[in-house]
Amino acid sequence: MKISHIEHLGIAVESIEKALPYYENVLGLKCYNIETVEDQKVKTAFLKVGDTKIELLEPTSPESTIAKFIEKRGEGIHHLAFAIEDGVAHALAEAEEKGIRLIDKAPRLGAEGLHIAFLHPKSTIGVLTELCEK
Ligand code: ZN
Repeated sequence: MKISHIEHLGIAVESIEKALPYYENVLGLKCYNIETVEDQKVKTAFLKVGDTKIELLEPTSPESTIAKFIEKRGEGIHHLAFAIEDGVAHALAEAEEKGIRLIDKAPRLGAEGLHIAFLHPKSTIGVLTELCEK
């Protein structure tokens, strides 16, 4: 697979409203989009940092994987997302061929209209890894 850059860093938070003042008032970043991804039961807020972004993830239901993550590990870095140049489907096939466990067998639609897929942290040395493409 061909990775061009880190697309974003996903951070699990209990409340976007409570987290944003730190990112905006202390770090001086600007939130430019807040979006709910229904099928993921998550509300997302995006802040630009140069060519990359920070994605704040707030659970909208106790069933959300983000709610379970916070319950188990607390708030903090949840996943690392890479921008893929040569197609997420292709990258998934290549990763699977190399013995990586996939969470998503095929790309799906994520926040900001990106095609996304996750690799399982058991196969990626503990870092939940997202592959994205525009
Ligand atoms: Zn993400």
